[in-house]
Amino acid sequence: MAIKKVIEHPAQVLSTPCAEVTEINDELITLLDDLYDTMVEYDGVGIAAPQIDIGLRVAIVELGEERDILEMVNPTVIETDGAEIDIEGCLSFPGLYGEVERPSYVKIEACDREGRVYELEAGGFDARAILHEIDHLDGVLFDSKIKRVITAEELEEMYANEEE
Ligand SMILES: [Zn+2]
Repeated sequence: MAIKKVIEHPAQVLSTPCAEVTEINDELITLLDDLYDTMVEYDGVGIAAPQIDIGLRVAIVELGEERDILEMVNPTVIETDGAEIDIEGCLSFPGLYGEVERPSYVKIEACDREGRVYELEAGGFDARAILHEIDHLDGVLFDSKIKRVITAEELEEMYANEEE
């Protein structure tokens, strides 16, 4: 387990579609653990393998209030529904926040670290986080989807209002 350096935009690895994982092995387990350590260190809610310079379809996301860790190996989107605009950031774009429209519901299929296939449904911010990470695996970055950039002042104001 190790904290890796997060790759920042612009970088080739971030804009290149990732390769499928073909074997469940110790390297995959290490990758998942490294992703976790790095996400915690950088205080993110999700991180994808290309962000630590590994071009494989592997990503993790924190889900819900409990902040359960969802590990996604070779995830695919099966179904989406609805649309919602909310604010996103990305560890590869320090200081950039913007409004991004995403489906409000998603159903995915992926493998866990033991190679077991699972299906998962998510809504709201969980759906957003999952779709943001799967975009990374397709070489798609959130700045291309920003409808409106949120300034640091606006962001501060929003947090201040939330805490009231
Ligand atoms: Zn990101």
